[in-house]
Parts: sequence; structure tokens; C-alpha cells
Amino acid sequence: MSIIPFDDRDGFIWLDGQLVPWREATTHFLTHSLHYGGLIFEGERAYNGKIFKSHEHSVRLHKSADLIYMNLDISTEDLCAAKYEVLKANNLENAYIRAAAWRGAEMMGIDIDGAKTHIAIAAWEWGSYFDPKIRETGISLKSTKWHKPSPDCAPVHAKTASLYNLSCIIKVEVKKSGYTDALMLDHEGFVAESTGANIFFGKGNKLTTPIADRFLNGITRQTIIELAKAEGIEVEERRIRPEEINDFDEVFLTGSAAEITAVGKIDDFIYQVGPLTKKLRDIYEKLVRGQ
Ligand code: PMP
Repeated sequence: MSIIPFDDRDGFIWLDGQLVPWREATTHFLTHSLHYGGLIFEGERAYNGKIFKSHEHSVRLHKSADLIYMNLDISTEDLCAAKYEVLKANNLENAYIRAAAWRGAEMMGIDIDGAKTHIAIAAWEWGSYFDPKIRETGISLKSTKWHKPSPDCAPVHAKTASLYNLSCIIKVEVKKSGYTDALMLDHEGFVAESTGANIFFGKGNKLTTPIADRFLNGITRQTIIELAKAEGIEVEERRIRPEEINDFDEVFLTGSAAEITAVGKIDDFIYQVGPLTKKLRDIYEKLVRGQ
């Protein structure tokens, strides 16, 4: 399936306070963040015209900005309003929304003093993050030699571009081996997450998930923990050793793009798409659609 390039589409993108024709939302080669990875972003979804947890995503963009010392001169309310402007301008009700902020071309060196912040928001229709055919079987994850950086090696709670290049490298490697995504370990060798989503393990009426103190504490992850507890499902957040993962009966990923994605295989070990996964996926899918 060929994808229409993302810079060659019809529609409008919100750029520094104004809607501009899609193809005109460009930036110069000497843009600071293009060279040093200092872009921050959010990925969120609108369902039936309503953006799920828009405020929380806007707050997280601000948090990411603070963590990389970026001056983000827009309130969370104005950010939320701009996202809706983008949906309206592009006639979208169900969409993925990408907001980002980056440092401009005023500086070219490590010193960021004087670099202006630019902000842009785009939205487009984006169905399942993973192939929808795997809904009944789950995706496959492969272990990787790469670890997540430790919290004293990178701003691990910021959603910043510099952290995602590693995910891109890993994705190339696992795809070569026929897997969909990777299971990443943290700097101490405990289970962390996939390249772009958090992970949960299920057994009986209990979910176990790694403590999100060394990687992104996803908004979907937090939502699932709340939903599970409300359903009387026990949730334990703890360090998980890789040798333990075959003791669980089911596995799923959570993320704004990935939503609730069942995992059917990690390395050679097969999991069923189990009752906790199905139940929480169902509840989540209804919640985001306001049902
Ligand atoms: N971890 C990583 C590395 C991610 O990129 C994402 C997606 N933003 C998540 C976890 C899940 O976060 P959220 O549920 O807030 O989308």
C-alpha cells in the first residue's frame, strides 16, 4: 500500500497561530531542532469530533517543554482550541492529531539562547496504528539489544524527538526478523515498554505493568489503570524481570496511537488475546467514543 507523503497532502496545518495550506507548513534546513533533536510533540486522537484527553496532552506538551528548557508561549487552553480549529479546517471528526514545538533557525550550535519556539498542529485520518488484521491474534514483539536510557542519561519523561531515533532504529531491526515491534528493557534490565507504547501483562484477574518512573507514563496507561481498578481488576505496578514474562497469560500495549493492542507473541512465546485484554479494549473503545 503506498502512503501519500506527509508533506504533499491537501488541507490546513496550524503553524505559529495561523492555519496555512498543508504544503506550506515547512521549515528551513538550518532549524535548530532538526540537528539536535530538540522537538517535542504529542500524539492524540479525536473520536466523533471530541479529542480524547486533549487537556492532558496539552499539559504534557508543556511538561516536555519545561524538561528541555523550551519556552512554550501558548496556554494549554489555547493549544486545545487550536487542535479543534485544525479538525474543523480539515473537516475531520475521527483523526490522529500531531502537535509539536521546535527551536527555530536563529541559533546553530548547542547554545539555545535566542532560538525561537515554533508550534504546529496537523491532523489526519489514521486508522489502526498496527495492521487491524492482528486484532484477533495480537502483534509480535521481539527482544532487542538496545535498552531505554536511564533517567540520568536523557529526559525520559519528555516526549521529545531525540528519544525516538532509538525507537526508529529498533523498529528497522525487528521488522527484518519478521516482528511487529520490540520489547525494550530499561537501563537495569527490567521490562520497560515497546518502541512507542506502554505494556501490560495479565494473569487471572490481575494486571502487572512496569513502574513508569523511567519512561513515558502514557495517558492511555493511566486511563487503563483507572478503568481496570473500576472493574475490580487488581493492578500491580512493579519491576518485571524479562524471565518472568512467560508466566503471564496475556499481554497488551497501550498508547494514544496504538490504543489497546493485543500482543500475541514475544520472541518465541505465544499468548492468547485474553479476557482482560478484550474487556479493557472494549471499555476503552467505548470510553473514547463517549459511549
Ligand atoms: N511510550 C512511548 C515511548 C510512546 O511514544 C507513547 C506514545 N505517546 C507511549 C508510551 C504511550 O503514551 P500515551 O498513552 O500518552 O499516548
